[in-house]
Order: sequence, then structure tokens, then C-alpha cells
Amino acid sequence: MMKKKQLLVHGGNIITMDENNIVEAVAVEEGTIIETGNMEQCRQSLTGGFEEIDLKGKTMLPGFIDPHVHFLYTGMLTSWADLTYPNCKSIGDMIRILKEYAKTLPEDVVICGYGFDQRKLLEERYPTTKDLDQVAADRKVKIMHISGHGIGVNSYYMQTMGIDKNTPDVDGGVIFRDQEGNLEGMFFDSAADHLVGENEVRIGNHGINCHAYYPMEMYLEYIKKAQDMALAAGLTSINEVQVTRYEMSAYQEARKKGLLKSRLVSTYYSCYFDELKDLGMWPRIGDDKFMLNGLKLYADGSLLSGTTFLKQGYKPWIKTAGHFFHKPQELMDLIKDANAHGFQTLTHVTGNVAIDYIIQAVREARAEHPEIHLRHRIEHCGLATEEQVAQMNELDIWPIPQPMHFHLYGKGVVQAVGETGEDYNPYGWFKKHNVPIVISSDSPVSTPDVFTSIYTAVTRKTADNEVIGPHQKISIEDALMGCTLNAAKAMHMEDKVGSLECGKKADFLIVSDDPLTCDVEKIKDIEILETWIDGKVEYTKGENYGKQ
Ligand SMILES: [Zn+2]
Repeated sequence: MMKKKQLLVHGGNIITMDENNIVEAVAVEEGTIIETGNMEQCRQSLTGGFEEIDLKGKTMLPGFIDPHVHFLYTGMLTSWADLTYPNCKSIGDMIRILKEYAKTLPEDVVICGYGFDQRKLLEERYPTTKDLDQVAADRKVKIMHISGHGIGVNSYYMQTMGIDKNTPDVDGGVIFRDQEGNLEGMFFDSAADHLVGENEVRIGNHGINCHAYYPMEMYLEYIKKAQDMALAAGLTSINEVQVTRYEMSAYQEARKKGLLKSRLVSTYYSCYFDELKDLGMWPRIGDDKFMLNGLKLYADGSLLSGTTFLKQGYKPWIKTAGHFFHKPQELMDLIKDANAHGFQTLTHVTGNVAIDYIIQAVREARAEHPEIHLRHRIEHCGLATEEQVAQMNELDIWPIPQPMHFHLYGKGVVQAVGETGEDYNPYGWFKKHNVPIVISSDSPVSTPDVFTSIYTAVTRKTADNEVIGPHQKISIEDALMGCTLNAAKAMHMEDKVGSLECGKKADFLIVSDDPLTCDVEKIKDIEILETWIDGKVEYTKGENYGKQ
């Protein structure tokens, strides 16, 4: 008989995130937790020669789960020229950075940059084609806004794509034009479809076309990079929230080559919904490591690029206005149809106008099919009102915000919308109205730094140490729940992961300090020392706690 691989973990603070909360030891067999509790109990559950992992006083937690990540894009966009603040503080910086970056690329590759934020640039405006023409006049230049919702290109790019002043405006998108109607080079949301060729992936009014074609070797490089980042961040399960045929082919190839370590749940993009129904695809299919689940939809734009619809409107200096991808009725019909076909919906909504549509759609979906219990989600849910939060509880709608966005851009939101911006990411209201707390990163829009996310949700502090909306603070326990068990529930995976419980996967972390007892200010400095998946160590920083 083959000897079973067994582990006994002990010797530190073990936080299980189930009702036991704190235990002395955890026993693992063949990648599954078979016992948790006191040392003797766990030792007895192991029959053969088990391996001991001494935590040496460190803390063990369930693996972190991020329910909203653009996985391939995390590797891809962090490989593009870095236009994030403070690396890029002005349009002059942008031109210089892109020119330098171009020198590292083969001549036929598009010069791409990611992460500029017009509000943080010295000029406080979007770059134009004229600016980008200074980077290259005979090569394509393409830059992406930090939110992913706006793309800027140079003249050469537009010429080769046949885009000019006669290019039509589209529903669910914005094209910047001057007074004569000439293009200024910025394309928002649905308008980004103009920037891709006929044979490339097209999204229509289902979302933003940020899906770029690259040869497979490049995709695999990007996936490797994203996977390394995820393991270092302690992410053992990830929801990749929108896949097109590019990502699907890349993930399948990566899986074949053994490059996927974290559990990856991929969500179908709603532009494929008709085909999925036609094919009779199951809404949830795959195995423990690679799965397809649910439907990703877009309702509105982004707070960061000023393209979401708000009841309170924006301050006058915001040049853009809100828009919807779908007509409200069309969006609500999509959600109801998805529910009827068993698809959990993940709808991108940042403004409070569209939240009303999701609430109405889910209300009608629940009434039509009381037998279906899907946790329909609102991705981001930046500026929900308290009344909307109460309705989310009633309808079991799951908001998926990103405290890192608050940390980095919270101040900008208050500047853009006024006092109501204080309630950006209203975790306090979620708690008050019994709506589940979930934490995610939306990587690469923000880096998957879970402890800084927890710290932010607990303190409401921005990157420059300002407290915004202190009444929306939550406890450390609630924040931890948000990146473990509740995040698993948001992905309908709580039977497998999210807590250290018998029968669940041995996905766990060893971290440098105990977030429940350490000084609150220190939470953001807690380090991920080891990341384990299926009872196997996949990432180690410094000292090795196991014997492998
Ligand atoms: Zn996203």
C-alpha cells in the first residue's frame, strides 16, 4: 500500500476561521485537513509516519481568497511601461517612460503603458494623441488608465486601424473629441472595441475591451508572473472575473504545463452568454484547481475615470459623465436570464444608480425562481446608499469591494463627489445590515496586498494616513473573514476552502504576526512567510518551517 502523505502543523497561533476559531494543531492527509483541535487529538488522527511543521510561534491562517482578480492581466499590465503614480507624475514623464520602454521591445510590438491617473498628473488632464505622437510616429502606442476603463492611442495607431473623425460614437462608451469632432485619442469603455482588429476579441456593449492579443509564449510568461505575485501575496484561490477566448486558451495551456498553482475560478464574459446557452454549457464546470463559474456583466463605468452614474453627480471639474453599458432593462433581463440558467452573476457596478437595477433584477429573479439560491454579486459597489445596503441583505446580494482602491483613491473620490464620498466602500453599513463582508483587490487595478486591505477596512486610512468615513470601520475578525471564508462563499466554494476545517483542502498560510492580537498599525506590515496549497508548500519567504 502507498504511504499516505501526512502533516501535523503546530507550535504557533492557528486561526481556523470556523467556530473553533483558535486551535492547537491541524492534521493533514493527502492535501485534505482531517483533524483540527488539540495536539493529542490531531496526533491520534495520523496513522503513519507524518511530517511535523513547527510554526515556531508564528501564525497559521487559511489561504487568502481573492474573488475579483484579472489574473492574466496582472502579469501583462505589470510588464507594460509603468505609468502609475508616483513613477509617472506628468505627461512629460509619461512620454519619457514610454520612449525608454520602447527601446526594450522588438520593433513590431505595440508600445503599451499602464496605470496613469489623470487626476494625479501635473497637467490634471488626459494625454492626447499629440502627446503620444511624441513617443513614436511610426509605431503603435497604447496606454491604459489605472481603472482599465480608458485607453489612449497615438495617431499612427488610429491611422492603421482606420479610425478617424467619422468613427461613430457607441452605446456604453465615450470618445474624446475636440469642438470640430476630431478625435483626441482617448476611448472609454465600449468605445475601446474600435481599437482592435476585425478578427480580435470583440466585447460590444458588454464591457471594456482591454483584452489584448499576444502570442502564447507571452501569455504563459504573464501567467507565471501573476502566479508568483499571487503566491507571494498568499492567494490560494482566485476568481478571474472575465475570460474571453484569449484567457481561456492561455489558462488551459498554463494548466497543461503545470503553471497554475492557486485554484483558479474563471467567470464567463457576458458577451458569450448566448453561445453558452446555445451550447448548453454548465454554469459551473471543472475541478478543484480550474473551474468555470458564473457570468460577468458590466453595468456602469468607473469612479476613478469618472464614467459611473451617481445619484449625487460629480463636481463640475470632472470632464466625463456617467454612462451605462446596457440599457437598464436589457441589463436586468440579462441578470434574470442568467439566474434562470443557473449562472451566478458578477456585475460590475461602481455607482449607486445602477445598484438599483441590480436590486430590482435580483428581486424579480428570486420571485421567479425561489428554488435557485445563487449569490448574485455586485463587483466594487463603491458608493451604495444605506437603503440599498439594507435591500442587499434582504435579497442575499453580495458586494465585492476593494479596500485597496479606497486606500489609494479614497481621497480622490471625496474630491470628485463631495461628502457622500466618505461612504465609499461602506463596510460599516454592510456589517450593520448583515451583508457579508468580502475583500478583494481587482488586481492589477491595485496590488493584491491582503494585509494592507485588512488594515484599510479596519482603520479607514488612506495611503496618506487620512481617515475617511470612520463610521464605516469594521473589526479585524470581520475583515479576516472577508478574505477567507466569506470570499470562498462569494465563489460558492466554501465546501472546499476558506477555513481550516475537517474535510477542506489544506490551503494555508504561515504569517509573521497574529493579526488578531498585534498592534493595529502593524497589520499592514505582516508578512506572508509560506503559502501552502493542497498540503504542499508553494511559496517560501526566508526561513522554511516545513522540512520540504
Ligand atoms: Zn475588475
